[in-house]
Amino acid sequence: MLGAGGRMGRAVASELAREGAAGILAAACDRPGSDAVGREIAPGVRVGDDLAEALAACDVYIDFTSPEATRRAAREASARGVAAVIGTTGLSAEAEAALAELAVAAPVLQAPNFSLGVNLVLELAESAARALGHEFDLEIVEAHHRHKRDAPSGTARALAEAVAAGRGLDAGEASLGGRQGDVGARPRDEIGVHALRGGSVVGDHTAHFLGPSERVEITHRAESRQIFAAGAVKAALWLAQRPAGRYAMRDVLGL
Ligand code: NAD
Repeated sequence: MLGAGGRMGRAVASELAREGAAGILAAACDRPGSDAVGREIAPGVRVGDDLAEALAACDVYIDFTSPEATRRAAREASARGVAAVIGTTGLSAEAEAALAELAVAAPVLQAPNFSLGVNLVLELAESAARALGHEFDLEIVEAHHRHKRDAPSGTARALAEAVAAGRGLDAGEASLGGRQGDVGARPRDEIGVHALRGGSVVGDHTAHFLGPSERVEITHRAESRQIFAAGAVKAALWLAQRPAGRYAMRDVLGL
């Protein structure tokens, strides 16, 4: 577990410490200098800060850290051919390139969200955008706790990509974050993506389809980050037996 001292790292450790858990927490790693180093995170497992040692001890590593840590770990894992489950969001182009390189040597599963519900919502949102057509304006709204660093969330970006695919748009060109000032009438093919931050919200996402005289909203609300941890562990167990390459949560869930 990389990022073992963080919110998600602790959730994954507790998931693996559950009675009857299918996987084993082989090693827990955080950054040198982190308060978590030395702490017992699960029975018999202390958080270390030696990435190479942690990677040598495991079949699959789960990464919930930061873009820079993801880049560095992917480089190190490439040399060793260790499978990777990547949950970190807001990745830089350099981190994405390091994951592409790792996927040549080992299986890599990257997911902005490991919950079954969100992955279903991605499928539903794509179908809705396709069925409702260009009369319906597309807006994505997400909310997260006050500590979240990246905005919009990786899941909101994935939702924008899903509705863009349904409407035959390019998500990169169509997506717009926030509005301010004299922005004029809304262009039809715009996808607004908006981020709320505050309190302890685990993660809410709504895809709005705003049509003439009617609206459709598809919402997911995460009530505990344990759902992400359980999904990440499920993904790791599934991934351990796969050949090198790129995988997504929809492969694990059979969606
Ligand atoms: P967090 O800040 O609580 O935890 C991050 C941990 O990573 C910290 O303990 C930090 O010390 C550690 N870290 C930083 N650099 C490191 C390094 N070089 N080596 C090892 N550890 C390092 O954050 P969080 O809420 O757990 O979220 C982490 C990431 O996961 C974010 O990008 C977040 O958006 C993402 N996330 C994804 C999902 C999902 O389902 N895919 C769900 C929740 C959060």
